[in-house]
Amino acid sequence: MVYGEKPDISREKSAELYEKAKKCFPGGVNSPVRAFKSVYGTPLFIEKGDGCRLWDADGNEFIDFCCSWGPLILGHNHPKVREKVTEEMQKGMSFGAPTALETELAELILKNNRFIEKIRFTSSGTEAVMSAIRLARGATKRDKIIKFEGCYHGHSDSLLVKAGSGLVTFGETSSAGIPKSFAEETIVVSLNDEEALKAAFNQFKDQIACVIIEPVPANNGLLLQSKAYLQFLREICTQNGALLIFDEVISGFRVSFEGAAGYYDIQPDIITYGKIIGGGLPVGAYGASAQLMANISPEGGVYQAGTLSGNPVAMAAGIAQLSELAKSGFYKELNTKTEEFTNAIQRYATSKNYAFKVFQIASIFWFAFTDADAIQTAEAIDPASMEQFKLMHRELLNRGIYLGPSGYEVGFVSVAHSKIDLEKAKRAIFECLDIVFKR
Ligand SMILES: *Cc1c(COP(=O)(O)O)cnc(C)c1O
Repeated sequence: MVYGEKPDISREKSAELYEKAKKCFPGGVNSPVRAFKSVYGTPLFIEKGDGCRLWDADGNEFIDFCCSWGPLILGHNHPKVREKVTEEMQKGMSFGAPTALETELAELILKNNRFIEKIRFTSSGTEAVMSAIRLARGATKRDKIIKFEGCYHGHSDSLLVKAGSGLVTFGETSSAGIPKSFAEETIVVSLNDEEALKAAFNQFKDQIACVIIEPVPANNGLLLQSKAYLQFLREICTQNGALLIFDEVISGFRVSFEGAAGYYDIQPDIITYGKIIGGGLPVGAYGASAQLMANISPEGGVYQAGTLSGNPVAMAAGIAQLSELAKSGFYKELNTKTEEFTNAIQRYATSKNYAFKVFQIASIFWFAFTDADAIQTAEAIDPASMEQFKLMHRELLNRGIYLGPSGYEVGFVSVAHSKIDLEKAKRAIFECLDIVFKR
């Protein structure tokens, strides 16, 4: 142990549960990143959460900056969400028929969002994005789509595609089990590169159904794009008769109630949502103009469905959570709190000359072990820096701070993180930076 490092927290119970889980699930988990493959130790099995805190099976307590990967903007187990969900549950869990709750949640969203006129609920972000792509293809009668290296859009076939070599490339599948012919319909270009996108549109004239982007790319570090670049996307899509899809599964209801569309004031053609929209239960959604949404079945010819879509209990959680977010001043307070937190960390790192940057937007932050002032493309991330994150992650866990178990993942601040919690977290982070950079 290097000076300053702390002994590891006990993971006996978690390790035991992990062994059992490995007999049931591939890799012991139901979603790969949970397996702690990029950080030290076995995954922590969580027992309960409350406010900004998590407790694992061994009784370790953490201040949580993962927040279930984003959905929990009000923190864990928020009383308003819990009460509304409990109330609805008394009436039954699912009917497979319309309920007023779906319309209530839709109205709450549409009334407070200038960028979409109609919405359709799904049960996950993946489904929302997959359906948005189908809508774009159906509406334009074109097959090819453009995505960006470093943006994640869920695990549907067309989107598990990474860049090959060269400026404009057909995608290469990034998962086994995806036909090459599917990947060839997806063109992958670098973020923040106008020339690459122009070249793609030239090469595939009148074949591009849509360009899909995370307007706040937050699944591979936090690769903040300029507003000018996002405006360029809007223009080039319009010029070429392609649709612009903002995948706002993370940024929706996070960077503002209207998401990144509202934050940057840019009108995409289709927007996808997930995570926050369901208040911690499985909900996704996609929305667009009424005219575009008329293409969706049963109104139009683009088929999309879901047995549990608009589930009443999930809708109740969404209503309770989004009602809080729609209150005036909600985002200002949360964002200011986050900015104070991340600025203080940056000041500390800078004062010590550490090659460390905190990138931040609204209540999203990313710790990057770098000298660069900006990182705007996936290629600009140094894979070697992940070793530093790995050490930091362990030391943070040992000090009661929980971050997502990968250096490519962003952190989230919730309203439940009090100034005192953030102060505690800051001190732990300072100590961990000292340890990482003393190596
Ligand atoms: C999480 C995420 C998805 C996938 O959502 P799931 O609910 O995990 O299927 C899609 N797009 C973005 C931008 C995401 O962050």
